Amino acid sequence: MTEESSSRPATLLAQAGHYEDAATGGVTPPIQPSVTFARDRDYALRLDGVSYARDRSPTFLPAEHVLARLEGGAQALLFASGMAAATAVFRCLAPGDHVVAPRVMYWALRDWLQRFCAQWGLELDLYATGDDADLARRVRPGRTRLVWVETPCNPTWEVTDIAAAAAVAHAAGARLAVDSTVATPLLTRPLELGADLVFHSATKYLNGHSDVVAGALVTRDADAHWRAIADQRANGGAILGPFEAWLLLRGMRTLDVRLRRACDNAMTVARHFAAHPEVEAVLYPGLQEHPGHAVAARQMSGGFGGMLSLLVRGDAARARAVAGKMQVFVRATSLGGVESLVEHRASIEGPGSPVPPNLLRMSIGIEDPADLVADIEQALG
Ligand SMILES: *Cc1c(COP(=O)(O)O)cnc(C)c1O
Repeated sequence: MTEESSSRPATLLAQAGHYEDAATGGVTPPIQPSVTFARDRDYALRLDGVSYARDRSPTFLPAEHVLARLEGGAQALLFASGMAAATAVFRCLAPGDHVVAPRVMYWALRDWLQRFCAQWGLELDLYATGDDADLARRVRPGRTRLVWVETPCNPTWEVTDIAAAAAVAHAAGARLAVDSTVATPLLTRPLELGADLVFHSATKYLNGHSDVVAGALVTRDADAHWRAIADQRANGGAILGPFEAWLLLRGMRTLDVRLRRACDNAMTVARHFAAHPEVEAVLYPGLQEHPGHAVAARQMSGGFGGMLSLLVRGDAARARAVAGKMQVFVRATSLGGVESLVEHRASIEGPGSPVPPNLLRMSIGIEDPADLVADIEQALG
């Protein structure tokens, strides 16, 4: 890595940490596919810790460097997926540990967590998402080891006060981990608000082009817990391929402009449909009537994200029919890409889902906002 010209996020991102290839002067890093790395006559390595690609690959380093700088953390680690990164955090807990997590959160993780806790002997308490007092009540001093929050959270976009959650977790001797996938490092800086660990599904906004599955963790301190997480990656083996790591950094370079356009488009859509007769409610933290708006306005800066949900007037069948009529929005899962997506979450999550049956989740992309508004209008009509 070369000397940085600026620590401002947009500059860091655009210049990939002011990258210049040491060997060639190239302004983008090369893909290094080698699995193993030669030692000199004295048995020294050229790059610290880079001897075998399952432990550390040179192709991970520029993206990890930029992420650590963006979040203001000591170190970052890329993983093979968001789930690989998130599950590494929980696998570092010991049987008998108590964990607090939201009731409404990224569904696949909550589903895995419930099974893993039962199997691994962890005690799991789910708090009412968006209710900071309920979170505080569930944290047990001396027993809780980890508090996991997601903000804004999928798919209702409730907001958790990170600073308040950090105070409660730390008073009890627990760590706070924040799933900041939807906020991205540009809109919220959880470590500055007191969190110990930040998680991103890099599949989403960080990469932004729906063509890489990846995850990332950033830590405030490179402490024993972090070393255990790094060991989970190295020896659990959930590493990203060099090409995927390279593509991820390529995507990250445009995060600032992509995200700002998505935030603007989401605000336009949210405002347009807030009072629509066929819409019961628009769930978007950028709207004043959203229950999390005050906290979001405090802990997010530069926008409220590109994710929103519409509660369509009617039942699940009506919501699915509206999604079925869309022509600009693509009916697909995932989020954070440049193209807009719509999803009927209750159909995906199945019975037992806490998601309202009339909810349509929308990942707002960077298209012309007039096309997005017109598409939803015609689908509701
Ligand atoms: C997608 C997602 C995950 C899981 O990440 P993968 O990259 O799909 O493994 C976790 N949390 C949130 C909020 C997500 O959107």
